[in-house]
This record gives sequence, C-alpha cells and structure tokens, in this order.
Amino acid sequence: AKPKVAISACLLGERCRYDGTDNRDPKLLGKLEGCELIPFCPEDHAFGTPRPTMDLVETEEGVKAISNLTGADLSPPVEQYARNFFDTHPDIDLFIGKDRSPSCGVCSARLYDRDKKLIDNRASGLMAAEAKRRGIDAWDAEDFLAANPAPPIVGD
Ligand code: SF4
Repeated sequence: AKPKVAISACLLGERCRYDGTDNRDPKLLGKLEGCELIPFCPEDHAFGTPRPTMDLVETEEGVKAISNLTGADLSPPVEQYARNFFDTHPDIDLFIGKDRSPSCGVCSARLYDRDKKLIDNRASGLMAAEAKRRGIDAWDAEDFLAANPAPPIVGD
C-alpha cells in the first residue's frame, strides 16, 4: 500500500488559514508524490474560517492554546479533534505539520508565558504533540523539504 501521510490541509492548498488563505507548497507536494495524503485542520474544524488567531501559552495546567481575542482557553476542541483524527487513522506513517502553527508546528511553534514573553520557539503545537505522543514520525514541512536525502516513509 502507499505510505500514509497526515498533512496540514493548508499545505495542500485548502484555504483554511485563520484569514482564509492557504500555504500551498508545490515543492512539498512533489516530494510526497506516490503517498496517500490525509489532510487535517484542527482549527478550521473547531472554530471555522476565518477566525481569530491564538498563541501557545504555558500555564500551571500545562501548554494551552489561548485566544488572542478573548484570552479563553481554546485547547479542548483542538485536542479532541487531534485524538479523534489519530484514533480514526491508526496507520499513519508520517506526520507533516505547517511550521510555527500553534496547532500543527512540530518543533517550530512559539510558546509564551502568561506575560506574553517568548520562552521557547521550538515547541510543538497541540495536534503535533498528540502525533508525537503516539510515536508517529513527525516533521515540520520546512524541515522535511530541506532534509537531504528525504527521510524514508514506510508503507505496508
Ligand atoms: Fe489548519 Fe494547521 Fe494549517 Fe493552521 S496550520 S490552517 S490549523 S492545517
């Protein structure tokens, strides 16, 4: 079977970014030719598009996605989507997330403290963190593109 790659939908050209644009990357798509691509977008699913942005913030309860508009904790629907996605796709070979996204960034998301001070710029977004917890080989799109030779993707 073709290798199964879970990938941020915006990288495939879906206009699901917070402002209704996409992050389509033809070079990345070329590198993934021959794979079965399974798109996801936790934020569009949870909040619709367009939507206000959010940041990752370290709180006493752990890393949370905090709305930049209201200050509310938006983590639960994003985490719920992530768990559900991987439960329904238990055979993912590779995860590719959009760099720097507080949901999809693998080791490129910015993490702030309660005073909005940047404390880490190599953090994982909430969906990427769930992929890593499940032991899935996870890459930021930019790192995956830059890797030479390409990382092996193992199908059945
Ligand atoms: Fe959706 Fe992730 Fe792309 Fe943001 S980075 S638009 S959450 S797929």
